[in-house]
Amino acid sequence: MGVYAGSAESLSRPTKGTPMKIVVVGGVAAGASVAARARRLDEFAEIVVLERGHHVSFANCGLPYHVGEVIADRSRLLLQTPESLRESLDIDVRVGHEVLGIDRAAKTVTVREVDGGRSYEEPYDELALCTGAEPLRPPLPGIDLAGVHVLRRIGDMDAIKAHLDAAIALAATGARGPVRTVVIGAGYIGLEMAENLKHRGALVDVVEMSDQILPPLDHEMSVPVEHHLRSRGITPAPVDCGRSVRGPPRRRTQRRTH
Ligand SMILES: Cc1cc2nc3c(=O)[nH]c(=O)nc-3n(C[C@H](O)[C@H](O)[C@H](O)COP(=O)(O)OP(=O)(O)OC[C@H]3O[C@@H](n4cnc5c(N)ncnc54)[C@H](O)[C@@H]3O)c2cc1C
Repeated sequence: MGVYAGSAESLSRPTKGTPMKIVVVGGVAAGASVAARARRLDEFAEIVVLERGHHVSFANCGLPYHVGEVIADRSRLLLQTPESLRESLDIDVRVGHEVLGIDRAAKTVTVREVDGGRSYEEPYDELALCTGAEPLRPPLPGIDLAGVHVLRRIGDMDAIKAHLDAAIALAATGARGPVRTVVIGAGYIGLEMAENLKHRGALVDVVEMSDQILPPLDHEMSVPVEHHLRSRGITPAPVDCGRSVRGPPRRRTQRRTH
């Protein structure tokens, strides 16, 4: 028994006696899969999922498309809820619960309730770490200005969409010019974001520090995609590296990355 990083297959098979207590840290793709798989391996286990965010098992791949209103119904992104996981698989899912530390000798994790601030120790027999990744925020001057977003979670998506909706509504009154957006990073998520911003009628520039868009692809495969983007009015701009992000937010040209 011990600590595992995101693989339910590593969890032990059930044994007679006291039910095994499995604690899963992180409740999105990996965490929800581990918890569900663990339940299938052991119908008696006590399974607890600790997720510091306020959603579990959501469809990250749909986030840009809700911003673009291609997926209009936000609830379609929420594949499971704590209630549905409790009901269908008897999994104890606690959202807004952040794991701050692991005591491997005592086999406990220290948990903080994000909203209430209360802390407690949660014992485990098996611990699965499914904590995923954070978006890279390059240390550029201005990166924390209002209107500079990352897209990773439901809350990020809500913030981008609210900002965009407000700007589009204002532009429709004639009180401001067209909505200008800049996407930093021409990987898969950046281009999906660009596509959806364009779909909403925004002007879109894409900034990429590599010498091509979609850096994981061979250059000759990225060229047709770049042509397609340009044909749709999206301008990919290779630059050495973004150096700063300038405000203020209410200027006619809201954000420009140099
Ligand atoms: C916009 C977007 C589009 C994508 N599109 C695709 C796609 O089309 N196809 C594809 O295959 N993949 C896509 N991906 C990637 C895919 O979403 C990720 O590979 C997947 O979400 C990884 O799941 P995960 O559970 O490992 O990590 P995450 O989704 O990062 O989940 C980890 C969770 O752990 C929680 N956590 C972290 N630390 C703690 C802690 N200390 N205590 C408690 N909880 C903690 C976090 O809050 C987070 O919710 C996309 C991702 C994004 C952001």
